[in-house]
Amino acid sequence: MKNSMIILIGPPGAGKGTQAKNVSASNNYILISTGDLLRDNVGKRTELGLKAKSFMDKGELVPTDLVVDMIKSELKKYGADKNFLFDGFPRNLTQNELLKKMLIDFKRDIDKVIYIDVDDSVIYDRLTNRRVCPKCKRVYHLKYNPPKKDNLCDDCNVSLIIRDDDKQDVIKKRLEVYHGQTAPLIEYYKGVNKLVAINGENNPQDVYKDIASAL
Ligand code: ADP
Ligand code: ADP
Ligand code: ZN
Repeated sequence: MKNSMIILIGPPGAGKGTQAKNVSASNNYILISTGDLLRDNVGKRTELGLKAKSFMDKGELVPTDLVVDMIKSELKKYGADKNFLFDGFPRNLTQNELLKKMLIDFKRDIDKVIYIDVDDSVIYDRLTNRRVCPKCKRVYHLKYNPPKKDNLCDDCNVSLIIRDDDKQDVIKKRLEVYHGQTAPLIEYYKGVNKLVAINGENNPQDVYKDIASAL
């Protein structure tokens, strides 16, 4: 079977991370989440992390060259002849062009873009109540997907954390960046017949089913 390359796209809080983890584990995709990779770098205070942090804290995009280098080294690390699922990349048309160029070198192409559609009105509730496991990156929600034990990851038993950028004013900025810079990719991939739109306001199980059947 031919390997495939999938992009998950959607506003902050759409459920990309939640779905990406399940989809990749159950369908043998290597997950590349630029947000998780960047946060790891920030946590470890690497050179990349130190450069990226100020942009992330403001809700702005990290400079494209930094992100593209990171993607390139991930593809090299795993070998490009695998199934890949991208969460959070590409984030604008420039990153998309650079990705396309890079994939020519790897003799690969994007097969599908799965757009998880969620209205802005539900985003604040999703993000202000989001909690994440610092170890395995699993995503929880205080109301819709709480951990079994208070504030502890079901899998790792470590304390859940609130992301630095899940604050009201930063969420507002991230939504602006999304609509201004990321959303044009939806039109682009619709135009080349690779877009599958999914209703992200359904419950997570139904969203998962829709994604799995789109793969
Ligand atoms: P993204 O990676 O797109 O920013 P997440 O997967 O981190 O989004 O989800 C954002 C928040 O919304 C988390 O707290 C998560 O538990 C919750 N969530 C995810 N999918 C759903 C859903 N279908 N319904 C309700 N809450 C959800
Ligand atoms: P969300 O879960 O809200 O969709 P992510 O975890 O994907 O957010 O990203 C968090 C932050 O990391 C972004 O606000 C941005 O600063 C940075 N980031 C992640 N991916 C990229 C990317 N492809 N290009 C530039 N910045 C990125
Ligand atoms: Zn965990």
